[in-house]
Amino acid sequence: MGTFGTPTYEEEQKPQNGNGTAAVGAEYIDPNDPLLTSESLTDDVTADAYKIPPPAPDGFWRAKLKSVPIKDTKGAMVPFMAWRHEKVNDGKPMFVANAEVSLIDLSGKFDGTRITEQWVKSNIDKRKGTSQMTTIIVKAGGTAPSPSTERQRLDAFLKTLAGEPEVIVETFWEASCMKCGETADKKDEKRPGPFLRGMHRFPQVKGPTGALEADPIVPCPVCKSSCRAQVRVATFHRVGDQKATRGLA
Ligand SMILES: [Zn+2]
Repeated sequence: MGTFGTPTYEEEQKPQNGNGTAAVGAEYIDPNDPLLTSESLTDDVTADAYKIPPPAPDGFWRAKLKSVPIKDTKGAMVPFMAWRHEKVNDGKPMFVANAEVSLIDLSGKFDGTRITEQWVKSNIDKRKGTSQMTTIIVKAGGTAPSPSTERQRLDAFLKTLAGEPEVIVETFWEASCMKCGETADKKDEKRPGPFLRGMHRFPQVKGPTGALEADPIVPCPVCKSSCRAQVRVATFHRVGDQKATRGLA
């Protein structure tokens, strides 16, 4: 786990065998089961099942929010975590939790794309007078208690997300180097931040239709290894306050 301000973002979760189900413990199926031989389906023989789809383009999306586990300081996955750092929140403890943003795309292309918003914090930023948990609660149409304790903000956050509310999220592409991050970890140094942000700053290449499109693969400016853009959330908005610009039919 990185120090505060540089949370370690993991690569977007990859299912173990394509559909997320583990082979271990699977039911035995007779290879001659008629279900395997009776239904004839058509697949796209020109497409490539091993090709990674491009990341969802930058813009405003309708999305669903839900609470997902966070890795605690011992490495266990827990629903939320109490955390304290001497340089944060005047050294007072707070709660941190993860939220999963699932994009809604009426065209189907990026529908269900999941982005984990890591380390959403309950503390109130004294300069701004805001708390990340409260902001997400309000944008998701929940009820934010005020004044409130750290615990009350956490509870309201979890309660709001339990209803899997809809919001509008603004997303952007971001590239960071995993290899340089691992090197920094080994030397016990601060991980370098992302080196490229915003889809329009990525190199433009000709797509399958001949039109220019942003290439999500870029070389790390330091070690030159290939890095792939990850989709991040910039801002949360209430449905109705902000129009979606992506994911429309
Ligand atoms: Zn690098």
